Amino acid sequence: MKREHMMQLSLNRVVIASSNTGKLAEIDRLLAPLGIRVVTQASLGVTEADEPHMTFVENALAKARHASLATGLPALADDSGICVSALQGAPGVFSARFAGEPRSDERNNLKLIEALQGQSDRRAYYCCVIVLLRHAQDSRPVIIEDTWHGEIIARPAGQGGFGYDPYFFLPELGKTAAELSVEEKNRISHRGKALARLVKLLVENEKALA
Ligand code: IMP
Repeated sequence: MKREHMMQLSLNRVVIASSNTGKLAEIDRLLAPLGIRVVTQASLGVTEADEPHMTFVENALAKARHASLATGLPALADDSGICVSALQGAPGVFSARFAGEPRSDERNNLKLIEALQGQSDRRAYYCCVIVLLRHAQDSRPVIIEDTWHGEIIARPAGQGGFGYDPYFFLPELGKTAAELSVEEKNRISHRGKALARLVKLLVENEKALA
């Protein structure tokens, strides 16, 4: 029955506005049971959209609209980053390019640790906004936001994850995000929680999406 609803909504095939294969695998794993097949924009020859905006939601919308316009398919996009309290929320939407181009996790982390040297307030949170557009002119996009709170530590720990994960410490677990298994991270991370809520919405609230 759920699958039929998805078909009615023409959500049986959705383009993902991301070239990150990790994100794709995670989204595919969650949406496949709903009968939703995901395809990357890159596999359809669509280039990455610009992310010129000051907010996660605007960037995610821009990415989804770009992918939907170019392919004629419903589109799913996410925008995410890390917001650090002592830096007034920076690097935020600039997380991927905090230390400039070319993008480098290593240089981004170095810049972050330097910026927090001597700082006692180490609080930070990851934020993820997911946007689902039924079509490029959709005036009522589905927008879901979630966060994941932790602290920035001065020395890295762990080999997993990516980006800021080796420095993102979770006091309640006594580990960094890079020390979690993929499954553990997906269960509690900003992106994992937002995706789980999207799936719940698709399954339970199909009328709202029609
Ligand atoms: P996006 O792909 O444009 O959303 O950029 C997200 C950027 O934020 C990444 O390049 C990372 O720097 C950072 N980021 C977002 N989510 C995570 C995460 O789960 N772990 C580590 N870094 C993250």
